[in-house]
Amino acid sequence: MDFSLSEPEVELVALCRDFARNEIARRAPAAWDDARCPTDLLREMGRLGLLGMLVPEDWGGIGMSTVGFVAAMEEIGLADQSVAAAWQAHVTIGSLPLLLFGNDEQRQRWLRPLAEGRALGAFGLTEPDAGSDARGISTRAERRDGGWVINGRKTFISNAGTDMSFGVTLLARSEPADATAPRYASFVVEKDTPGFTMGPKMRGIGWRGLDTRDLYFDDVWVPDEHLVGDPDLGLSQFLRTLEVGRISIAALSLSLTQAVLDLATGYARHREQFGQPISKFQAVQFKLADMATELEAARWLTYRAASLRDSGQPFQKEAAMAKLKASRLATWAASEAVQIHGGLGYMLDTPVARFYCDAKVLEIGEGTNEIQHMVIARALGC
Ligand SMILES: Cc1cc2nc3c(=O)[nH]c(=O)nc-3n(C[C@H](O)[C@H](O)[C@H](O)COP(=O)(O)OP(=O)(O)OC[C@H]3O[C@@H](n4cnc5c(N)ncnc54)[C@H](O)[C@@H]3O)c2cc1C
Repeated sequence: MDFSLSEPEVELVALCRDFARNEIARRAPAAWDDARCPTDLLREMGRLGLLGMLVPEDWGGIGMSTVGFVAAMEEIGLADQSVAAAWQAHVTIGSLPLLLFGNDEQRQRWLRPLAEGRALGAFGLTEPDAGSDARGISTRAERRDGGWVINGRKTFISNAGTDMSFGVTLLARSEPADATAPRYASFVVEKDTPGFTMGPKMRGIGWRGLDTRDLYFDDVWVPDEHLVGDPDLGLSQFLRTLEVGRISIAALSLSLTQAVLDLATGYARHREQFGQPISKFQAVQFKLADMATELEAARWLTYRAASLRDSGQPFQKEAAMAKLKASRLATWAASEAVQIHGGLGYMLDTPVARFYCDAKVLEIGEGTNEIQHMVIARALGC
């Protein structure tokens, strides 16, 4: 296996490194403190082509490989996890349903503005009574007046409520009332559609810059042109989209782990106790050595899943493994990095504390780690 980057991938990484160091690292912490989504930064990323990362040039994107996306994430996420979270949600689950399952008219109307960085995409699956159990959703779409009427509620939906958001691609039950089995279809609902409202921005432990909200659908009528993909295969379309999202969360986890490893190493080399830098104590050295080793292992899994996708091979199991391994590592490494910082690491003014807060959700979003275990076990034939 050779995951060395091609020339366009190397150029992309350099661009992301530059923007992450000069702009994101400088401006994003204030947005985290104010719990505000920094759409100014996301718009600038759009102008650099970064919001159309996985979308072909024909539809306004830059047609980057998944490996290139992972490598770019390693730079963006190192600077700030909320910006990286909003960006990756847009690039994967926010845009891919339209790319993979939409028709050309829909791609032109909704995907192109997303890929060109003029709008932010959102993915509406989770509901108050249906998270891991996606089949259990109760949002309904009924055929009426040459279109569909949608009723229900979604929760924890990212990127739907910013000043850049275009609306949401959501999943709803679509079988007629007398049907015996459930059917699922996905629809685009644009913001400002009558009956579509939102709750306030939710307050998380971390990812404080990410805009996440409840969405309400009260007799929302959309025409047939808003149905995305196969009218009966909406659930499998959404689950396939999440597989790419898992690679993306794994990449986000790599970037967080690298960030806390760098911070902890730098701090340990300068903080002196008992007359010497704490990096001279074996207990501290072993934590750092473990972090670095586990990070390398998680990196291989993540690039492997990405490269399988790029070569058109199945990658479901590998994406689940990468997400499981990398997110567990991120929460553990963030905790150890705070430990190495001692009391200072507990203070929210320090970057390591913010990364610690940002880490936990990596084990929850895009399918909890228990769900990743189930996906892997199923692939093993259990
Ligand atoms: C910051 C944030 C952003 C998000 N953004 C989005 C978004 O943009 N779009 C979207 O649709 N969703 C989004 N989500 C929702 C996220 O995908 C769900 O929170 C996640 O899938 C888990 O669902 P749940 O919260 O309902 O937990 P539950 O499904 O209720 O799970 C609770 C616990 O039970 C465990 N569990 C459940 N079933 C099983 C089982 N069969 N075996 C073993 N354990 C099980 C889970 O692993 C978990 O530990 C977001 C969530 C957060 C926190």
